[in-house]
Amino acid sequence: MKFVYFFGAGKVEGDGSMKELLGGKGAGLAEMTRIGLPVPAGFTITTECCDYYYKQGRKFPSSLKAEVRKNIQRLERVTGKKLGGDKDPLLVSVRSGSARSMPGMMETILNLGLNPTSVQGLAASIGDERFAWDAYRRFVQMYSSVVIGLPKEELEDKLREMKAHRNVKEDTAVPADGWKDLVQEYKKYFKSKTGADFPDDPEEQLWGAIGAVFGSWMAEKAVTYRRVEHITGLVGTAVNVVQMVFGNTGENSGTGVCFTRDPSTGAKVFYGDFLINAQGEDVVAGIRTPMHLDDMAKRMPKIYKQLENVRRLLEKHYRDMQDMEFTVEEGKLYMLQTRVGKRTPTATFKMAVDMANEGLISRDDAIERVKPEDIERLFYPVIDASVPRPELAKRKLGEGINAVPGAAVGRAIFSAPEAEEWAKRGEKVILVRRETSPEDVGGMYVAQGILTATGGKTSHAAVVARGWGKCCIVGAEKLDIDYSQKTMKAGEHIVREGDWITLDGNEGAVYEGQVPLVTPELSDSYRTLMSWTDKVRRLLVRTNADTPHDARKAREMGAQGIGLCRTEHMFFKDFEQPEKSIERQLAIQEMIVADSVEARRTALAKLLPFQRRDFIGIFTAMDGLPVTIRLLDPPLHEFVPHDHEHQAELAGKIGVPVEVVERRVEQLREANPMLGHRGCRLSITYPEILEMQVTAIIEAAVECRKSGIKVLPEIMHPLVLDRKELQILTDATHKVAGEVLKKAGVKLEYLVGTMIELPRAALLADQIAEVAEFFSFGTNDLTQTVMGLSRDDAGRFLPDYVDEKKAGIFKADPFQTLDVEGVGLLIHWAIARGRKTRPKLKIGICGEHGGDADSVRFCHAAGMNYVSASPYRVPIARLAAAQAVLEERRAAKSRGKRKG
Ligand code: PEP
Ligand code: MG
Repeated sequence: MKFVYFFGAGKVEGDGSMKELLGGKGAGLAEMTRIGLPVPAGFTITTECCDYYYKQGRKFPSSLKAEVRKNIQRLERVTGKKLGGDKDPLLVSVRSGSARSMPGMMETILNLGLNPTSVQGLAASIGDERFAWDAYRRFVQMYSSVVIGLPKEELEDKLREMKAHRNVKEDTAVPADGWKDLVQEYKKYFKSKTGADFPDDPEEQLWGAIGAVFGSWMAEKAVTYRRVEHITGLVGTAVNVVQMVFGNTGENSGTGVCFTRDPSTGAKVFYGDFLINAQGEDVVAGIRTPMHLDDMAKRMPKIYKQLENVRRLLEKHYRDMQDMEFTVEEGKLYMLQTRVGKRTPTATFKMAVDMANEGLISRDDAIERVKPEDIERLFYPVIDASVPRPELAKRKLGEGINAVPGAAVGRAIFSAPEAEEWAKRGEKVILVRRETSPEDVGGMYVAQGILTATGGKTSHAAVVARGWGKCCIVGAEKLDIDYSQKTMKAGEHIVREGDWITLDGNEGAVYEGQVPLVTPELSDSYRTLMSWTDKVRRLLVRTNADTPHDARKAREMGAQGIGLCRTEHMFFKDFEQPEKSIERQLAIQEMIVADSVEARRTALAKLLPFQRRDFIGIFTAMDGLPVTIRLLDPPLHEFVPHDHEHQAELAGKIGVPVEVVERRVEQLREANPMLGHRGCRLSITYPEILEMQVTAIIEAAVECRKSGIKVLPEIMHPLVLDRKELQILTDATHKVAGEVLKKAGVKLEYLVGTMIELPRAALLADQIAEVAEFFSFGTNDLTQTVMGLSRDDAGRFLPDYVDEKKAGIFKADPFQTLDVEGVGLLIHWAIARGRKTRPKLKIGICGEHGGDADSVRFCHAAGMNYVSASPYRVPIARLAAAQAVLEERRAAKSRGKRKG
């Protein structure tokens, strides 16, 4: 098996398509070499080798030694330098790189190959002894901490001590002897800690570094990052061994990171940071504040032009925005990395639409470029424009670089673990750090926003936050952050742990207290792309909405009707006339407490006008679109008070003795209410409830029709488990509706159907379809009943079922993402059976899964007609439904190719 792939001097063994095997970085280096860009030579050890390493209990394959040796020799030939050589020696960097980018999560070792001999060779060839020894001490320092695991802080302390001893402040002021002393100091420390000498043999150094990179694949921070980013299915990291080039040899050198378009806004401008006389890590670490590319253009016009050229070439080649790292060594440009750049959700839409319009990609590609999370994040808030500017100015604590837009309000917390603790308690937090490092990802993830005192737009904090679309301000240098006191000083003002602050990631401003936020207007690019998805998808997207307000919102979001209106959600609050809320509450409570049919009818008659008004509002908002209204579903005890005080209050208000209320509540008590007297069972026992609700629906429809509104009502019975049960309910529905229509002298089309929420209903779907005119899968209850897991309580232990480090039984929470294997099997069965009886049976889903992208893909493949999602998730469903079609087309095409 081949484990090593070479690239250099125009020769390559791999290419850009081999990301899985060579990792993103390795594939990028190979591809850039292949298309003739200036790339330092090197080789990549494959991800399969990493897989082998772990499977064999952290052992390298036996053939690897010879393969690596052969490639080192080839590298030496190509570069004309020798690893550990005494003249112009070859130095290499050893870097990780998996198929999915995990910025800063794994290890890197630079300047490998330095030893007492080669450091002399380096000094001679560069003509700078100080530089050579600085490089050597950096290597020893990195190797000691990364490969051997010696504490970073102690190594840093030694550096500080040396500088104090020599009375210098900046690293740049340390003379060659200072670095020489430090190397000796480090080596002594190394021996005292490990009992062995620091390795001088470059090959031994290399094997240590390769092992450390493989080891970092399973380090806590990398595992956490993969979990929060949902990165699964990778076999490991590759290792890239690449000839070192130096950006820190003087004023004619430097290093930078750039993007082919602006990753924040998506604008087609060249965007990036550059540091003169620096090594790559200095930009990413955000320790020095870099210059913009425009300034670089002035300082190094020739190199800038060359870089511009690379920008054009790479974007055209990869047909996507690239994030590139480069180094200038003594006036010569080297490309060190290219990868598809992370971007904000706003930029995702803009770039996708712009690139499609430019002809760089197709519209289908544009649709596939957007992730469901990008849509969610588009609705991130900004500071309410109605807050007066002078007030904002008064509250301003400081300014930084606007790394990721959006705004966030939270309590200032100064360490990542504490941010996680606060967030666990339900607090909103802003993570405030001098700079962030990969260890901080857990805290960064739970934070509403991130604020750092140092760094530029490509610092760790900025890159990670951007990937999440999370508001982030970096380089707020005037803020004095004190970790030990847990404070941030802004001039006179002191922000302490737990104090509220607000970040405006658009402006880069930090404010004291909680500034009101609003959700932004959607961009034209968003609208354009969504209109493209609508042309592609076959699945209709409806919404779950219970009020006219939600219905209007959902329509704005592109809903094509209502798939679920939960009538009981209007029982407790009058959304249109809030002052009437108490009155309707009492009517429903009176109905529940009633102990005779007459008393119940009297109470229901009070409720009828409220329900009718609700439905008029909803039909009006959905003019021309279908509206599925579900009859009463939850167990009645949910609507009455359980404590004596409130029961007495209710008894007084509805004019019955408190004992009546108490008795009734006692009667309603169930051991297992979710499997109890609920759903359509209520209408079987109390047909008058059904009569009132159907009357309200049909009367509302008639009234709307009269005022010219197009109504398409669909009346839905919940939790049905038997054909005869549904027949009784359907007959009762038609009887009531028929009477209302006859009285009004109106003809009106309406449907009567059922939810499929119980295994028995799904199993007997052929019989149920004899009666039902439509099915709507209520996958919240269906998941609960198929899996035997309580939807209300399973949250306590389901996280363990999903956590790979615990049990890892499910890939996702089955109440969020449909359990395709189990619940899905039953859905397939029910659809097939239902359509056997009624070939044109209209089928949808209205459980929470209707707004989950993976579940929507399943619904498409299962042949449903529509999905129904909460208003803000409607666009996610639209996108996922279109992506499902594109996936299907691609699969059909590749099947066709295989056959051909
Ligand atoms: C369901 O069970 O999936 C459903 C939509 O109904 P509810 O969530 O109201 O029980
Ligand atoms: Mg249900």
